[in-house]
Amino acid sequence: MMTDSKSIPTTLIPGDGIGPEITESVVEILDAVNAPFAWERHIAGMAAVDAVNNPLPKDTIDSIRKTGLALKGPLTTPVGGGFKSINVTLRQEFGLYANLRPTRTIIPGGRYEDINLVIVRENLEGYYAAMENTIPADGDPKGIALSGGYVSRKECNRIVRFAFDYAVKNNRKKVTLVHKANIIKQMCGMFLEEGRKVAEEYKGRVAVDERIVDACSMQLVTNPWQFDVIVTTNLFGDILSDQAAGLVGGLGLAPGANISDKAAVFEAVHGSAPDIAGKGIANPLALLLAAVMMLRHVGRQDLADRIDSAISSVITSGEVRTGDMGGKASTKDLTAALKQKLV
Ligand code: NAD
Repeated sequence: MMTDSKSIPTTLIPGDGIGPEITESVVEILDAVNAPFAWERHIAGMAAVDAVNNPLPKDTIDSIRKTGLALKGPLTTPVGGGFKSINVTLRQEFGLYANLRPTRTIIPGGRYEDINLVIVRENLEGYYAAMENTIPADGDPKGIALSGGYVSRKECNRIVRFAFDYAVKNNRKKVTLVHKANIIKQMCGMFLEEGRKVAEEYKGRVAVDERIVDACSMQLVTNPWQFDVIVTTNLFGDILSDQAAGLVGGLGLAPGANISDKAAVFEAVHGSAPDIAGKGIANPLALLLAAVMMLRHVGRQDLADRIDSAISSVITSGEVRTGDMGGKASTKDLTAALKQKLV
């Protein structure tokens, strides 16, 4: 008999584009296992611009401040102009310094079997601090575009420590520090320096190694199995985690969590996919895997394991897959198949 009540207040942001379709699917599956989340639904992104002319309404921020926990669909960010990325604003508002992006093989028979690695990306600093400007040059008032980045010693230390702590708690054996300290000597140099200091403290418990980001990117393709936990600065982490997602079936299968001591926001790595929005063909698994991470975060390993095995069983049998996974199923078909496999 199911006895759980909806006891954990949780902010739910359906998001833009395919967001509402995949959120509906995920909520349906969470309901099917009687997950303990009491949803507080709020809007953000273009949906909020259209409704209240504000991409991040105060009610949404207040709700996350209160619950400290959110499941968020993808949000559209205008390219090159318009409002600042809501994802970046949320990270800054709640100091969500650690972005955790696990990658593991779910679809059997692909090019990369048995991948199981985690990328820890620093989420607040680097080039995402958005210190940008233009200055006149060559007779053009905006002839040169400038983009500044920074890292702080404190944050470098904290993100690498997060990666090592994660390794210890999750029985991971090795952390790889990824940088470009040969060229970006100050910013990446400081990250590497702090990384090495932190690694010393975990000596004998977790191994450490180092890679320059370009070599890491190549090795992720030639021999991804050598990596266990990768920790790196903001921009490199963003790029490498999409690359890693590509090894195991693409963005439709890549979840992520943004974590601080104030809040944890779980989301898919992918965006709002405007090209397929409203067609009912989006893959809900990335957001579902994010919800599985959220269940583990609140200590419900039992429910997380149930959903994980339903995903494995549906995807392994191969009969019900969405287009991005080489199938023809709709979001609703996949949702129904997953619900059927929940035991
Ligand atoms: P995207 O991730 O939305 O789409 C890239 C490609 O992957 C598209 O062809 C899309 O159809 C496909 N795809 C993505 N998710 C899928 C899914 N669940 N099922 C099937 N196919 C899927 O990237 P983009 O097109 O560069 O960005 C679109 C918008 O999303 C932009 O406004 C961008 O700023 C925003 N974005 C938001 C987030 C976020 O909210 N966390 C992350 C990345 C991009």
